Amino acid sequence: MLKIKSLLILCLFPALLFAQKHYDIILKNGKIIDGAGNPWFYGDVGIVKDKVVTIGNLSNAKAKKIIDVNGLVVAPGFIDVHTHIEGDEKKTPTADNFIYDGVTTVITGNCGLSEVDLKKYFKHLDSVKLSVNVGSLIGHNDVRRAVLGEAAVTPNAEQLKQMQNLVEQAMRDGAMGFSTGLIYTPGLYSKTDEVIALAKAAAKYHGVYTSHMRNESDKIFDAINEAIDIGRQANMPVEISHFKVGLPNWNKSDQMIAMVEKARQEGLEVTVDQYPYTASSTTLNVLLPDWLLDGGRDSVLKRLANPVVHQKVVDEMIKDMTRRTRAHFDYAVVAQWKNDPALNGKNIMQINIEKGRESTIPNEIETILDITKLGSTSMVFHGMNEDDVENIMKYPLTMIISDSGIREFGVGVPHPRGYGSNARVLAMYVREKHLITLEDAVRKMTSLPAQKFRLTGRGLLQPGMYADVVVFDPNKVKDESTFERPHAYSTGFKYVLVNGQLTVDNFKHNGTRNGAILRGPGYEQNK
Ligand SMILES: [Zn+2]
Repeated sequence: MLKIKSLLILCLFPALLFAQKHYDIILKNGKIIDGAGNPWFYGDVGIVKDKVVTIGNLSNAKAKKIIDVNGLVVAPGFIDVHTHIEGDEKKTPTADNFIYDGVTTVITGNCGLSEVDLKKYFKHLDSVKLSVNVGSLIGHNDVRRAVLGEAAVTPNAEQLKQMQNLVEQAMRDGAMGFSTGLIYTPGLYSKTDEVIALAKAAAKYHGVYTSHMRNESDKIFDAINEAIDIGRQANMPVEISHFKVGLPNWNKSDQMIAMVEKARQEGLEVTVDQYPYTASSTTLNVLLPDWLLDGGRDSVLKRLANPVVHQKVVDEMIKDMTRRTRAHFDYAVVAQWKNDPALNGKNIMQINIEKGRESTIPNEIETILDITKLGSTSMVFHGMNEDDVENIMKYPLTMIISDSGIREFGVGVPHPRGYGSNARVLAMYVREKHLITLEDAVRKMTSLPAQKFRLTGRGLLQPGMYADVVVFDPNKVKDESTFERPHAYSTGFKYVLVNGQLTVDNFKHNGTRNGAILRGPGYEQNK
């Protein structure tokens, strides 16, 4: 009898559910772009709680809120797999720069820079509550620093094991994968074998390997080979971060892409990402010889105080400029220097002239060393060319990223990528230059990154997916942030929903902080 009763309930259940279907939000009459690269189509999107429940014709359906989005594009929220938000969470939990650029999910911990104790970090995120979903990688530089400090050393077996344990623990705590930044200390002192050993620790839990390569200019091809080889040896997917190239290898992006394609033919899951600008941004330290940075700041100052060592640094930096075929440091602009904010926005050549020195490479190097002695600074480097940027953007396996933290509005003269990467692709490369289609641009911002980083339930606009949704006018969406005036939010996103909650309502961030913490496959395994 009991069996029959429960059977009856089971049979009736779908009918009951159907009769009661009542949506929280319906987005009506939108041009739906599903994120998979399919052409747009007209339809309504029905949302219940944090999920998309129905896509189709909902003209007779009931909802608490019906929003007419006639003429606007409705797409999955953008996923930015290359960010650095550590330290910004409390300052700006509303993550306005991301939200106004259509980004609803970020992956942080890139370039080998992350929190080491991810359990603690996720707890922190949980208490702050951000407007965007956040996942994190475990970063090589910080793992190495925890075990070996800043020194230029090779780990012994015991130290390597300690580092592997830290990576494994982070994967069990929910890291998405393992990141390296082999131009930064102390990671730059590591040999490939060390990176492979640590990547294997993440591969055990099915993580992704993301690589800020050892070189992005004169030795780019060696660096790509190294990144791919690490993936091959560790048997894991590879994401080459901010794929780009500086002098002397301008116009060689075809060869770079060919290397990625060759690896894929071999069966290696390699993809790349890009921010859509011809300038990069990082610390001034990257211009200095690696050995000078060994041991950290005090050691650097001690070395520079010795005139013989000082001259050796200058000589090496002159050689480096010759290899890069550059005549001046006019491409290197101070972004944010605590010691003298008046320098923000000025390039090294200008600063050198202001110091009353003649415009020569050795003098400009002295200017760099003067700044270094007082404390390093973040920089913008105008180092790429437009043809390569466009060539890489056209490559189907390139996703769009910002490589940014949560911007503090008005502070410094940072790279505009933190405000406008996605809107810039939609405005400049889709609408103005017709370089890629709107549907393909959206795919690069949604399903491609979701698939690569195994973000289950996100990156596509389909029933059953989380309701991370953006609504924008493809004729008006625009990045407003420039190198000269970076502090400006992108415009054109009329609605942004994160896990079913309206976060941008009629072009305005309403303060909603409904982002979730996204954990990687190791966490699932360990449950
Ligand atoms: Zn990087």
